[in-house]
Amino acid sequence: MTFRSKEADHGECGARTVRQQIIARLGERAMGARELSQALGISEKEVYRHLVHVSRSLKTAGRKLVIRPFGCRSCGYRFRERKRFSPAGRCPRCRSSHLERPVYAIC
Ligand SMILES: [Zn+2]
Repeated sequence: MTFRSKEADHGECGARTVRQQIIARLGERAMGARELSQALGISEKEVYRHLVHVSRSLKTAGRKLVIRPFGCRSCGYRFRERKRFSPAGRCPRCRSSHLERPVYAIC
């Protein structure tokens, strides 16, 4: 009667899914979409798509994918409590498109 305590990764040649890689990377440190896209070799658009699913699976695991507050470079407006993972297009206060890029983290 032996029970493997370690997760066996046979069957997929050791390759982890993109979502698992995102969770592993964000578990180490907060990263932006551009960094993630370069680290994983996928487009930023794909990163945003995956983040939605990553967020859901983390929720069921009792954890949370958070968007670090980011601001407008022109007027200093802060985007807080943003729910969407894609970057904001314009500042709601001054209409500037010079916005900081959001960074994602797992907590
Ligand atoms: Zn602004």
